Amino acid sequence: MTKLKEMNNPELQEHYTSLVRNYETFQSQKLALNMSRGVPCPEQLDLSAGIIDCLQVNDYKSANGTDCRNYGGVEGIPEARELFSQVLEVSPNEIIIGGNSSLTLMHDLMARAVLRGLPDSATPWGKLPQVKFLCPSPGYDRHFAICEYLGIEMIPIPYRENGPDMDLVEQLAAADESVKGIFCVPKYSNPTGITYSDAVVERLAAMPAKAADFRIFWDNAYTIHHLTDKPAQLADILTACKKAGNPDRVFIFCSTSKVTFPGSGLAMVAASGTNTNWLKKQINIQTIGPDKMNQLRQVRFFKDQAGIEDHMRKHAAIIKPKFDLVLEILEAGLGGKELATWSKPQGGYFISLDTLPGCAKKVIAKTSSAGVALTPAGATFPYGKDPEDKNIRLAPTFPPLAELKQAMELLALCIELVSTEQELKKRGLPG
Ligand code: PMP
Repeated sequence: MTKLKEMNNPELQEHYTSLVRNYETFQSQKLALNMSRGVPCPEQLDLSAGIIDCLQVNDYKSANGTDCRNYGGVEGIPEARELFSQVLEVSPNEIIIGGNSSLTLMHDLMARAVLRGLPDSATPWGKLPQVKFLCPSPGYDRHFAICEYLGIEMIPIPYRENGPDMDLVEQLAAADESVKGIFCVPKYSNPTGITYSDAVVERLAAMPAKAADFRIFWDNAYTIHHLTDKPAQLADILTACKKAGNPDRVFIFCSTSKVTFPGSGLAMVAASGTNTNWLKKQINIQTIGPDKMNQLRQVRFFKDQAGIEDHMRKHAAIIKPKFDLVLEILEAGLGGKELATWSKPQGGYFISLDTLPGCAKKVIAKTSSAGVALTPAGATFPYGKDPEDKNIRLAPTFPPLAELKQAMELLALCIELVSTEQELKKRGLPG
């Protein structure tokens, strides 16, 4: 296969004409497809149908006799804390189960830090002249939205193979008191698919931080979302923090949003006793108690950790073929052409694709003009600014295979089209 760089001018122009013709054919099909957000498809939601009616009318008491229909129990019911403490590898008294959204827990924790400060804050963050957060990028746009909303300055941190660039993280955390924390998606990261290595986890736990109230927001959203039968292993950060003498450094977040029903799942946060006791008092001001009936339903539905693992294998069986199809089409359309690189994730919800620098926005505009909506270019970076304008987040789970095929063939074509336009421009040729 000839690379663009290796084509002579007439070959390049001829190639371009044929790409434009293919693109026009796509446009004439009037597609209306959306693969912009990582949401489960209906077949995945069907897997949890049993959660709707798994409680009998007289099944409302939790293990400690609490009537789950009533107010109370801010920390969650014991059996839910027990079950999900196993998932997060913490002890049951180090976890709070509450609400339906881990993003809400993260937002509210950050808002509390800004309004009142954390247990070890000398000053609420909102009263400081400047507060900064380290943001490994490409990352999760909604983390960045929380920072932006609360006026927290974001510092993008590039990714290395095994996690964020730890030399830079250590340097910034040690040098600057206004650096108050870091957002991490440590397993099957959104969107890179990376799982942090043991060394990265240990360095995060042990590194000196100038801010006494420095926090790691450990968003372990995809901890059980494996795509293969060889799950990635992530070191236990809470234990690492305790060992390093920084027991209060981390808050761990997770939810069953993409396990059962997004919007009707369980959200959870785990941390040291100091952090969870403080947080319970804070949450008590906000609510008289979470939806304990939903907690009971989820526990009854899964029964135990093996039940959760079994359920997740069923998810993988539905979505793995979609990931495989995306990777096949990328390889068939772009393999060896040196126009893009992409991740081959072992879990999670995304494939991260990098075009040549300066192409992502144009590619997404082109797919959109032909009826395929992708995550906006730049969304995976703080302030929506991808410094190299090259990252595209692909979310394969929702569309049916036939639609995914069309969308991906169009994307591969648009990447080649935009790269060819760029090459023509570089040579001063009309495009
Ligand atoms: N964290 C990450 C990394 C996510 O990708 C998502 C969902 N896309 C969430 C959190 C949202 O979780 P929840 O539904 O629990 O708010």
